[in-house]
Amino acid sequence: MKKELVIIGAGPGGYVAAIRAAQLGAQVTLIEGRDIGGTCLNRGCISTKALYTNAKKINELKEMGHFGIQLEGFTIDFNTIQERKQSVVTQLVSGIERLLKAYKVEIIKGWATLQADKTIAVAMEDGTTQILEAAHILLAAGSKPSVLPVEGADLPGVITSDDLLNIDHVPKRLAVAGSGVIGIELAAIFQAMGSEVTVISSTLLKRMDGEMVKRVQPYLKKQGLNLLQDCRVTGVARENDVLTVEVRNKKTGETDTVTTDVLLMAPGREPMLGRLGLEAAGVAHNAKGIQVNDNFETNVPGIYAIGDALGGMMLAHVASHQGIAAVERIMGHTPEIRLDVVPDCVFMDPQLAGVGKTEEELKEAGIPYISGKFLFGANGKALAMGETDGFVKILAREDDHRLLGAHIMGPHASDLIHELALALAHDMTLEDVANTIHAHPTLAESVLEAVLATKGEAIHN
Ligand code: FAD
Repeated sequence: MKKELVIIGAGPGGYVAAIRAAQLGAQVTLIEGRDIGGTCLNRGCISTKALYTNAKKINELKEMGHFGIQLEGFTIDFNTIQERKQSVVTQLVSGIERLLKAYKVEIIKGWATLQADKTIAVAMEDGTTQILEAAHILLAAGSKPSVLPVEGADLPGVITSDDLLNIDHVPKRLAVAGSGVIGIELAAIFQAMGSEVTVISSTLLKRMDGEMVKRVQPYLKKQGLNLLQDCRVTGVARENDVLTVEVRNKKTGETDTVTTDVLLMAPGREPMLGRLGLEAAGVAHNAKGIQVNDNFETNVPGIYAIGDALGGMMLAHVASHQGIAAVERIMGHTPEIRLDVVPDCVFMDPQLAGVGKTEEELKEAGIPYISGKFLFGANGKALAMGETDGFVKILAREDDHRLLGAHIMGPHASDLIHELALALAHDMTLEDVANTIHAHPTLAESVLEAVLATKGEAIHN
């Protein structure tokens, strides 16, 4: 029987698309080779945020003296930490499975390979092959960790984020090759847990606003993290269970070595296209990802693709939003979906979050802008919470005051950013935000004050 819509991959792109398509009345088949929930739930966002919570609590315990609470010291039970993380993941995955069932989404567990004419061969878990035909196919195959192509990259102890998230002990020494969001989040987590962490950084947190990246570095150092800037890993050797990582400074050409027990390879991620059979189906792609038009349709009519498999901004909320947009279009709707305003967060202490343009991007594009900043140190709620590190920075068009970008370093930055994402998505002005009463005492008052600061009108600056 011909299926109406077959979705390959049940990550936040695929499973969200499946639910939305079912809401619109489609008969949906969802094929997953590994775990429902994909990278995000099982080996990504949720796993790291569960461990980040532990790291944050550890950092807070170290500061308890400021709150008049004297602790005699504390220990970490890493087994319990990992079990808690796993129970969070399991709870969410089973919740999604229940939802998919409630929406009558057919789930097939196996690896899907496209063949000609929108036929799909699924290698089932029991060793058999199931052949499906589909009117529409949505590829949501996601991504996998990249590994630097250096000598020694396959040695024991050289691992990816998939492995580190499931490690059964806190490594005494951890080196991290890469300083994007994944590398830095995991570095900060394991530093808090007690590892001696060295980050070998080519460009620290490349996507984030430069000022924020500069200002967060003293906090990383204070937490004990050793940051080797402008450096690349050029090779790895192993002797007696100890890894020696060769490092080259990109600017000076000088070489150095880092001795470690575990090396996390975190140079980025790449689309997971290997099993999809894109060649057989004639779907245009390159090493960076599958190519699609504005409707997420590939060059083969009826075959669509979304999420990390496109190789763009590899974020769960981008994958979900694209998945919704794609199936709404497949189902004949013409939704007005804004896909250009994407909040980006880094879960560390202090948190970082940004949306819209960075100051560097505005300068490069020659867009005249005004900026305003407000420090959490002058915010009553932040002071009461004892979390005064950081600031809110607002960037707006000089002429009509429309918001261009917002960047937050500090407590709950990942939540606070959404007021500004909403404002950006709706082309709002500084005055629109300023004319909205912000409750007192809240961290959100810092957003209001930063908006006022663009015109020198902040009350508490
Ligand atoms: P995936 O989640 O990768 O799902 C794709 C699914 O397709 C997988 O389950 C895979 O098994 C399946 N699949 C692939 N090929 C086939 C096939 N041929 N047949 C059947 N099934 C197939 N993003 C955020 O937004 N916030 C975060 O805080 C965040 N933290 C992260 C932390 C880490 C450590 C990592 C690794 C990633 C993190 N991400 C985060 C990124 C986020 O996980 C991804 O952007 C998101 O999962 C992409 O969703 P997706 O549906 O496109 O792909």
